[in-house]
Amino acid sequence: MTPNRSPWLAELNRIRETSPLAQSESADVVIVGGGIAGAVTAYFILKDTEHSVMILEADKVAHGATGHNAGQITSYFERPFESIVQEFGLDMAVAGQRDVELAWDLIQDIQTSAKLETPLHRFTGFAGCTMLDQFLVYLQENTRRIEGGLQPEALYIADDTPWKKDIPEKYSTMYAVVTKEEIQAMLDTRNDDYCAVVASPKGCMNSARFTEEVIGYLHATYPKRFVLHEETVVEEVTLYEDSAHIQAGTHVVQAKRVVLATNGFEQFHITNTVGVDIDSTFHHLVTGRIGYMAAYIEDTPEPPTAISYLPKRDTPSGDPTGEAYFYLTRRPHQTHATEKALVCVGGPDQPLPNLAIYSRADTCRDDIKDDIDEFLKETYAPYPTDHKGYEFCWHGLMGYTPGGLRRIGVEPCNTVLLYNLGCNGVGILPSVYGGKRIADILSGKEVSPSIFDPLDQRKRT
Ligand SMILES: Cc1cc2nc3c(=O)[nH]c(=O)nc-3n(C[C@H](O)[C@H](O)[C@H](O)COP(=O)(O)OP(=O)(O)OC[C@H]3O[C@@H](n4cnc5c(N)ncnc54)[C@H](O)[C@@H]3O)c2cc1C
Repeated sequence: MTPNRSPWLAELNRIRETSPLAQSESADVVIVGGGIAGAVTAYFILKDTEHSVMILEADKVAHGATGHNAGQITSYFERPFESIVQEFGLDMAVAGQRDVELAWDLIQDIQTSAKLETPLHRFTGFAGCTMLDQFLVYLQENTRRIEGGLQPEALYIADDTPWKKDIPEKYSTMYAVVTKEEIQAMLDTRNDDYCAVVASPKGCMNSARFTEEVIGYLHATYPKRFVLHEETVVEEVTLYEDSAHIQAGTHVVQAKRVVLATNGFEQFHITNTVGVDIDSTFHHLVTGRIGYMAAYIEDTPEPPTAISYLPKRDTPSGDPTGEAYFYLTRRPHQTHATEKALVCVGGPDQPLPNLAIYSRADTCRDDIKDDIDEFLKETYAPYPTDHKGYEFCWHGLMGYTPGGLRRIGVEPCNTVLLYNLGCNGVGILPSVYGGKRIADILSGKEVSPSIFDPLDQRKRT
């Protein structure tokens, strides 16, 4: 039985006592959820407006997905970019991609302004393809990126790739032909299946430590306008015309606006006293998947990297980005004052059955750890032959919205309620961008329609 133990929470140096809600209180804006989405939303609201902000967190800050992820900073969507173009049009799809990429700068600005110490490693990361249909998705995406004025990604293919001749001529200027050895070097692999690579800006960061530091900064900078109550489970949100009551245990918090930054796994009800029912639609909006990860410590520290490996399948798929894949990050890791590397691998996930309650206290799945081990042996060249086991194994919950895009913005059925939720596998950059967008909305700025706008349920029926 392997306990759920993440390296990110192990690195926290937390001395703050929890302060659960102990009486009825009020704030201009209540944020439900104290992950990176809730903390960054609070940061920008406090910075850009005069509002007071209260975060209510069921557990402790950053102990949700933020403390159980792969910590890879990447800007892709877990659905083909082309399908976003088809749904929203090129301009909105490109604007959405730009917004997510903008979050790199937002993180950097927060780090600088708040003098945070959480290391942020930035580098070129890679995705390895084994099949033509996988590579075609990236070629198509690059075409759209160029059409929309975005920086194209660098694409490489090995000169001996059997399916190279099947790549349509129209893409011929979009990739470089290199040797198999060069492909394998980028992917840190000796596995011959991998014959093409996509290179793009990536990074890694302990998002739990970042979130904790942001909270510390908010406490120090806005002592009169910022309050955090941990170990406070929100059970009911009642929406009125221009206010909300948030029920947690026997206490009620009154607010002018409520932001749900709950990832999607809310064990609470929403009552809209002025308009159509939001509760039932909201609760069915987001489905859960449990993601599993394992990490070991590498004695010889290789430089930081982030690599996704898209494996070979029997038949091509219409949507290779929706297929199972493994992702690996490697970053400096301090043990006993010696610099080593932490190698984290994830990929396997399981749906959370409808109405089931996810428990962070559940142990990890040993069969999944074996799958990760198998993958590393077959694929990752620096994997040590005398591998001594995994220092960390962990799981976390991911909220998937029906369209695979984060929900950021105002609830159309009652504008007192706002969302910054739905991790959809890759959620660090979108949640940071989401925090800024929510603050822009609350400060009265005009925001353009976006691919992240919450759907108007009334238009769906
Ligand atoms: C295994 C795994 C790997 C991942 N890998 C990556 C990656 O490499 N890169 C990437 O960009 N993203 C990744 N993600 C996603 C990313 O971690 C999240 O999208 C990101 O941390 C945003 O988190 P959040 O703040 O929205 O949600 P969370 O961190 O889950 O925070 C939501 C908070 O809301 C609280 N809450 C919920 N309900 C209530 C309630 N009723 N009352 C009070 N509080 C409540 C929860 O306790 C929780 O702390 C991964 C996620 C997982 C699980």
